[in-house]
Amino acid sequence: MSSGNLLPIIGQSYGGPMTDHLGTVPRITSLLIKPASAVCNLDCAYCFYLDRDADPYKELPARRMTEETLERLVDTYLFYSYPNSTFAFQGGEPTLAGLDFFTKLVEFQKRFGRDGQNVSNALQTNAILIDDNWAQLFHSYNWLLGVSCDGPEELHDLYRFNKSGRGTWAQVMRGIECLQKNKVDFNILCVLSQANIDKPRELYKFYKSLGVDNVQYIPLAEFNKDGTRMPFTITAEQYGKFLVETFDLWWPERRKMRIRFFDNLAEAVAGMKPGSCTMHETCDSYVVVEYNGDIYPCDFFVEGGWKLGNITLDSWSEIARRTRRYNFAQKKTLGHPECQVCEWQSICHGGCPKFRHGPHGQFEDLDYFCAAYKMIYARAVDPLRKEVEKLLGHAAPELVRHSLNPY
Ligand code: SF4
Ligand code: SF4
Repeated sequence: MSSGNLLPIIGQSYGGPMTDHLGTVPRITSLLIKPASAVCNLDCAYCFYLDRDADPYKELPARRMTEETLERLVDTYLFYSYPNSTFAFQGGEPTLAGLDFFTKLVEFQKRFGRDGQNVSNALQTNAILIDDNWAQLFHSYNWLLGVSCDGPEELHDLYRFNKSGRGTWAQVMRGIECLQKNKVDFNILCVLSQANIDKPRELYKFYKSLGVDNVQYIPLAEFNKDGTRMPFTITAEQYGKFLVETFDLWWPERRKMRIRFFDNLAEAVAGMKPGSCTMHETCDSYVVVEYNGDIYPCDFFVEGGWKLGNITLDSWSEIARRTRRYNFAQKKTLGHPECQVCEWQSICHGGCPKFRHGPHGQFEDLDYFCAAYKMIYARAVDPLRKEVEKLLGHAAPELVRHSLNPY
């Protein structure tokens, strides 16, 4: 596909006119920006970004955000999101955009930010390119980094390869040491695949030995066209068992170590909006910004059919009010009969549409990991509730099933 083929996508209708009857669709509260699109310097066996048929930019060789697009992004988004503005960078591998790109980003944020504006930056990386220069930038401006590492060498190197098919663990460790030396705040993102799903204890011990106190586990679920599991995809039973065992390891150390899933669960139990979109009522907490300014409602659905607009053509408030954004947001509210009567519905909200859609392309299906959620909620909600009530000094809200569509 040549770049000219993108024009029909830019010119297409966005699922109906802009309308204010959708006034309840929330504002965009954070951005996930892909300055190098899905392009990566690694070749991990399980990467869902690789060779995706639905990727609108699949055959474009060079995909880098230009300085003009970056300037427009920062200028317009700082204006729209005042007083709290969050920029999160992801890929592919975002560091492929180069250190100058991120130095320029900070310059633009200083130039366009207003007095009293809180601007935060985060970046998810495989850490291969991280050196002192990068780390000093991150440290100077208090960036939060997420580093992908799937555990000790023998587990990490089963799937996380470079372009020559070699394991990358040693390079990741070098990147982590560099971040630690330069006092950069970072957490670990660990993909749970068949390589490590049966090793919760080994993973937990390993991250602790690295001096890491903040870990996010990401369950892997990719499927063949006929709906069968790809070889590295984990089962719901494995994921549930992993979460329960990890919870039991974590519980005595809960004030020292952060495991994102349990943090989010505690937030939900306390009646707060959890940090993770999978526990929200609807899919509208963030948008994805592609390298050329195209906007999508979720990183798992960067597809022509879900495009919401482009920052060079549309204002943020126009993008936020697109009918298509509403249509995507309420995919999460399609109540599977099992969710309608589920005791955990007010925490889980039917799981993640990506995991409903995955096996058979149907948003109406039950979340592939439903059995895992039920296992961990049954184990963790009661103790978390007691803990939360101690901290709040009053009773946490009851878990009450509700109408699945809040709009
Ligand atoms: S589909 Fe899943 S990952 Fe995407 S916004 Fe919805 S809950 Fe979040
Ligand atoms: S635990 Fe399963 S049945 Fe219950 S709300 Fe979540 S996905 Fe639906």
